[in-house]
Amino acid sequence: MLVLLLAASASCLASFASAFVARPSPSLSSSLSRPTTTTTTTTTTARATTSTLLRMEVIECDVAIVGGGPAGCTCALYTSRADLSTVIIDKNPASGALAITSHIANYPGVDRSMSGSELLDQMRAQAVSYGARYLRAQVFMIDVVADDEAGDERHAKTVYTPDVTIRARSLVLAAGAMGRVGKPIPGESEYLGRGVSYCATCDGAFYRDSAVAVYGASTEAIEEALFLTKFAKVVYWITSVDISMGTDAGLERNKVLDQGLLRQLLECPAVRHMERTRLIEVLGDASGVTHVRVRRPGSDDDTTIEVEGAFVYGAGGGSKPITDFCQSKVALDEGGGVIVDEDMKTSVDGVYAIGDIRNTDYKQVVVAASDGCIAAMSIEKFLNNRKTVKVDWIHK
Ligand SMILES: Cc1cc2nc3c(=O)[nH]c(=O)nc-3n(C[C@H](O)[C@H](O)[C@H](O)COP(=O)(O)OP(=O)(O)OC[C@H]3O[C@@H](n4cnc5c(N)ncnc54)[C@H](O)[C@@H]3O)c2cc1C
Repeated sequence: MLVLLLAASASCLASFASAFVARPSPSLSSSLSRPTTTTTTTTTTARATTSTLLRMEVIECDVAIVGGGPAGCTCALYTSRADLSTVIIDKNPASGALAITSHIANYPGVDRSMSGSELLDQMRAQAVSYGARYLRAQVFMIDVVADDEAGDERHAKTVYTPDVTIRARSLVLAAGAMGRVGKPIPGESEYLGRGVSYCATCDGAFYRDSAVAVYGASTEAIEEALFLTKFAKVVYWITSVDISMGTDAGLERNKVLDQGLLRQLLECPAVRHMERTRLIEVLGDASGVTHVRVRRPGSDDDTTIEVEGAFVYGAGGGSKPITDFCQSKVALDEGGGVIVDEDMKTSVDGVYAIGDIRNTDYKQVVVAASDGCIAAMSIEKFLNNRKTVKVDWIHK
């Protein structure tokens, strides 16, 4: 474990260390058809120099699914019904492609007035009703020992999050394709892990009584900013668009955001909202981030704000497969998509990839759900050493 930890990036290690700081867990429901095994293990982090010891919860299950979009939820629905203990690990139910889709007019059987997030809520609830456990956490690293090298090790696939480690017999990659594209903001890459972060739930606790900036106008950014208000003295929420000023354009944009969360954030005394303001640069020194530079349209003078952390969220996300947490452990194609065979198997035995993370031309909810079904049936065959897939509608 220690070797793995040392191999992780500075940001990942920061995330691990943050698990040690008491903070509210954002986990949602947790019901199981077959009980997963939960243990607590003691391990060390990069902060071991200060003799810090972590008590890390470890969950053992049959199927770990990274990503709670339509692909992950459908897969979980099928594996749970097949009596395989299943854990979905999802960064944020509001940040995936389906979650930000205002209306779904082409998912069979669903009324065209239904929003993407409503459809996703139903998919998640259905998977949970069959016994899947939904954990809200950001995965930052996986470890995938192929089964032929695992020997007697039954739970040979490991998924790391700041609070919990999941050890599974099979692993499904379903993190979608909302990854960042385009050029980062100047200073963003330089200070990544040294004050720049993409995960408030991972790193927020480092900013107790500090000033931080959150950049982005999505529901994800709002949720992350709200989380930071638990720790930071001041949260500068910077949006390049106007959201709350009561203008027509602001109201239109407003509609796609979670109104309750938006109100909560704007009413929070620690929040300073800077509308129609662009984040131009993240500044710092050897200690990490010290300031951000922002600009309002029509103004020649930039403003520099003193902060210790800058949390950057693209408005609506990008379109790159999210595979950074895989760290080259599965084969990718030239476009960055995970390569799979017709059973959704990746280059590593026992590891599957479904939905937009495959980066095909067919990025659709119905395709993601279909991938999830195929992977689940393939996993059932694999874990139960069957020669053929078991179809659950053939009833005797
Ligand atoms: C604006 C927009 C409109 C669209 N409209 C339609 C439409 O009308 N009809 C249609 O069929 N399709 C539509 N699509 C496409 C469709 O939404 C996607 O094809 C589908 O959602 C893909 O499902 P997925 O489960 O692979 O990924 P996603 O839906 O993106 O879900 C991925 C999940 O993984 C989580 N995640 C990401 N990284 C991590 C991590 N490190 N750790 C843990 N969890 C992680 C995310 O939080 C998210 O919950 C639209 C897409 C967009 C962007």
